[in-house]
Amino acid sequence: LGADRAAHVRTLIRDVPDYPSPGILFRDITPLLADATALSDVVAGFAAVAAGLGRIDLVAGMEARGFLFGAPLATTLGVGFLPLRKAGKLPPPVERAEYALEYGTAAMELRSGTLPAGARVLLVDDVLATGGTAAAAADLVRRGGGEVAGLAFLLELEALHGRKRLEGHEVTTLLRVG
Ligand code: AMP
Repeated sequence: LGADRAAHVRTLIRDVPDYPSPGILFRDITPLLADATALSDVVAGFAAVAAGLGRIDLVAGMEARGFLFGAPLATTLGVGFLPLRKAGKLPPPVERAEYALEYGTAAMELRSGTLPAGARVLLVDDVLATGGTAAAAADLVRRGGGEVAGLAFLLELEALHGRKRLEGHEVTTLLRVG
């Protein structure tokens, strides 16, 4: 994104203190999604990232906000889309990766057989926080027989050092906050 467009997108991400629990500063992208220019700028920004990653065979989105950017990105790139879903949403057979949350654990699933062997996959989500979700997603793609071409996020929360969990991967973020 150019500086002006990035600034416009940034104004449309609303910071909501203490949501969904005390101490969390939630980054709400709803106003961004409702803005035609910002939405298309973000998808174009992700497409520019993809252009620097070599061949991309599929875009994978992390449920749920990764779907909102991942599916339009896939159509922009002319490739298919792969939903990485929260546990229990996909019919079997599935691959599953468990990961730690601030409290307890969660699991993400990929429908077995949807990923052609050796497919190069670009993973997309809205926010990179601790990196736990993205690390699990990358693990799922690998176990499903794919290759992680890269991971792209709209917003990186740098203070949480999510990049450290993704070492060895190509990680790109359109916007960063400290
Ligand atoms: P993490 O696994 O900690 O990197 O968290 C990333 C996932 O949780 C992404 O799917 C985000 O949508 C969501 N998330 C984490 N922290 C925030 C936040 N402060 N605001 C909005 N979404 C968040």
